[in-house]
Amino acid sequence: MIKVETERNIIESSSDTLPPYACNGTCKKTWWTEDLNNQDNTILHVLVCPACNGPLIKAIEGTHFKVIKKAKGNIVTDGSYTARYASTLKDGFELI
Ligand SMILES: [Zn+2]
Repeated sequence: MIKVETERNIIESSSDTLPPYACNGTCKKTWWTEDLNNQDNTILHVLVCPACNGPLIKAIEGTHFKVIKKAKGNIVTDGSYTARYASTLKDGFELI
């Protein structure tokens, strides 16, 4: 799993790689290829954010996110439910 901090969110993924995409829309979340479901960039040309429909751009470490934690295994939320992706809004930001 990997945990990253973005401008507005703390994001955890069961992926063990750095996020390849960052939202350039309002939510500024980072995303991994597996999160984009069936989006095919050869057809759509532009990938869109699953959360806010903003355009996705190449995520750059230090600019769009910083890594807080990297560990083996999946992320676990609620103590028992294993998720692939979890996002928590940072203090001072409102849900959009
Ligand atoms: Zn977004």
